[in-house]
Amino acid sequence: MGTERTLSIVKPDGVRNGVVGEVIRRFEGAGISIAAIRMIHLAKKEAEGFYAVHRGRPFFASLTDFMSSGPIVVMVLEGDDVIARNRKIMGATDPAKADKGTIRADFAGSIEQNIVHGSDAPETAATEIRYFFSELEIVS
Ligand code: GDP
Repeated sequence: MGTERTLSIVKPDGVRNGVVGEVIRRFEGAGISIAAIRMIHLAKKEAEGFYAVHRGRPFFASLTDFMSSGPIVVMVLEGDDVIARNRKIMGATDPAKADKGTIRADFAGSIEQNIVHGSDAPETAATEIRYFFSELEIVS
């Protein structure tokens, strides 16, 4: 696989519930590096832009309301096979189906308010990283 980058977000529920540090601890504990990090409060339109692929889904309005409901922490993670490894650490979208010991199984309240986002493929990772960070803001 080699070294990859992926976009990680601690969603508004993660910030509200005070698990930012715990999420970062799990990444660092797995040998994953943080190559960029910033806190931001998305406007509704910015949340809609980020989740544009989900426009038309029944949960789009609710999801983008949620994602703009409070500050989030956006991060670029870097490491070997980090896209898949981050998805594994996060657990399944629905916390009820997430493996024990994953972030979502341990902290998420619902399929929508599920604490973290992580890119699912190299192409989406590149697009999502560009949505939040310029190349100058990412260290290697
Ligand atoms: P992810 O890659 O695991 O984040 O999942 P998806 O890309 O399929 O969905 C994006 C986000 O939309 C999820 O993380 C949830 O916050 C939300 N979501 C996904 N499926 C549902 C659903 O069936 N209902 C609701 N309310 N939200 C959902």
